[in-house]
Amino acid sequence: MHPRLQQDLDQFPQILDHTRQLAETFLSGIKQRPVCPPLDAQQLQPGDDQLAEGGKGAIAALDHFWQRYAEGISASAGPRYFGFVTGGATPAALAADWLVSAIDQNSQLSQDTVAAAIELATVDQLKTLLGLPETFNGSFVSGATMANFVGIAIGRQWLGQQHGIDVAEQGVAALGPVQVLSANPHASSVKALSMLGIGRDALKIIDCLPGSEAIDPAALERHLASSVGIPTLVLASAGTVNTVAFDDLQQLLALRERYPFWLHVDAAFGGVAACSPRYAARLAGWEQADSITVDAHKWLNVPYDSAIQFSRHLALQMQVFQNHSAYLEAPTLRPDNYLHLTPENSRRFRALPLWMALKAYGHSGMRDMVERNVQLAQLLGTELAASEGFHLLAPVNLNVVCFALKDNKGDAVAARDRFIARLDRHGIVRCTPTYYHGQPGIRAALVNWMTQERDIHLALESMRYCLPEPC
Ligand SMILES: *Cc1c(COP(=O)(O)O)cnc(C)c1O
Repeated sequence: MHPRLQQDLDQFPQILDHTRQLAETFLSGIKQRPVCPPLDAQQLQPGDDQLAEGGKGAIAALDHFWQRYAEGISASAGPRYFGFVTGGATPAALAADWLVSAIDQNSQLSQDTVAAAIELATVDQLKTLLGLPETFNGSFVSGATMANFVGIAIGRQWLGQQHGIDVAEQGVAALGPVQVLSANPHASSVKALSMLGIGRDALKIIDCLPGSEAIDPAALERHLASSVGIPTLVLASAGTVNTVAFDDLQQLLALRERYPFWLHVDAAFGGVAACSPRYAARLAGWEQADSITVDAHKWLNVPYDSAIQFSRHLALQMQVFQNHSAYLEAPTLRPDNYLHLTPENSRRFRALPLWMALKAYGHSGMRDMVERNVQLAQLLGTELAASEGFHLLAPVNLNVVCFALKDNKGDAVAARDRFIARLDRHGIVRCTPTYYHGQPGIRAALVNWMTQERDIHLALESMRYCLPEPC
């Protein structure tokens, strides 16, 4: 054995302990850590682009990384990172994620590990948590992007089936043009259209309801009526990243009765709201969708990367993802046969962090997280609306606040960007830019399990401090 490997084998306990200490240092300081590290700290240090010849062993390599790069790590796992839609990691989920690497299982159904059984149980518990029926099967993928990809891929196969074509065998060209209808698709679904050979041009944007980001069902009906016979996928939002708008799924289901289409629901973070009886009604109807996306690394607060794709069409899913090889187990139609149900071949034991979090905190723990984030978003929205420097671009719906600077004369986009840059440098709260119906805005998305009322007050203080001086 290479001497460094031998040395590390002998020092395994010390290496793990050292790693634990670094993690503890990081986590105990996360509330003080700047949400956005200075740009120079985000650069690679001299020499670190070079391949080492002999290596220095794990402890020295860990110290090398930590001494040089600890300052370049954001507090994105902390309680005041409101940029994008960024979850943290609960202690149970983090602990499980460490174990996943330590035990290093390949989570196919390979008859030599309990990993697939735990994955199946995790998906089942998640269905209970979110009120989804037994009829759904599900599997873990790396994120909502891949969950959207899988859902749309099964939809593509279904469209073929309606026309007597097996797209998995014959290719998407045999199906001819497909239309994809949506009011506010997430960019990742548009990427999936490209990856799936359906093409981005297949997307037709349908009008929103006035003053909302939700689809106008009447506009959708007009489009469906004018395009009868064209294979159709509908991508519903539940909810959108700007304002957490939910498409009215029951109205979409009524349309599906008359104009058959595949209904995919992107509920990457909004779907988690179904664990609270206060908000579950917003998802009403999703139990009859064809496929659903739910992210685990956002509002379920497990570490990157993790999401669940659900569908009610196991056989079609297996037609798409089956994987024949002399040395691998043959596909049989069962919901835990993940090798034949997902894009991956070898798979990380990605279910364990969520399984552990559900064990550790249960339904009520998840519900607390969701309800607290929503309450705090309401508080942030109320305070911003009452402030001198800001106004809301839309009423606060659930856990995202979409707002803008008031009274800026001149270039509103530049003023917004300068404000966000000042906020980043101040380091207390991270928000990211957006456009809402064409207006430059700022988003604050609350999805972290640690966030509390004092964080909202700290965030507001920093936002006021970073306001531009009047000119
Ligand atoms: C974040 C998000 C995605 C993409 O998710 P990843 O996990 O980053 O791949 C898709 N849809 C919605 C609604 C999202 O919020």
